[in-house]
Amino acid sequence: MFKGEKCEICGKPATHYLFASFVCDCEECIQKAREQRGGPGGHQKMKMLNLGKTECKR
Ligand SMILES: [Zn+2]
Repeated sequence: MFKGEKCEICGKPATHYLFASFVCDCEECIQKAREQRGGPGGHQKMKMLNLGKTECKR
C-alpha cells in the first residue's frame, strides 16, 4: 500500500495513513495513532490517561 512506509506504532509495513501517521491494519495501532494525534476520541483518551502512559506534550 505505502511502499517503504512503516507503522509508526509497531514498525510493520503500513497499510493506512490515519491521523497524520502511518499505521498497519492492527486496530490497536490505529487507536494509538489517534491518541498521538489527540483526536476526537475523548473516551479513548481517558482510557490512556488511566494507563499512566501519557506524556506531557508541551
Ligand atoms: Zn502497527
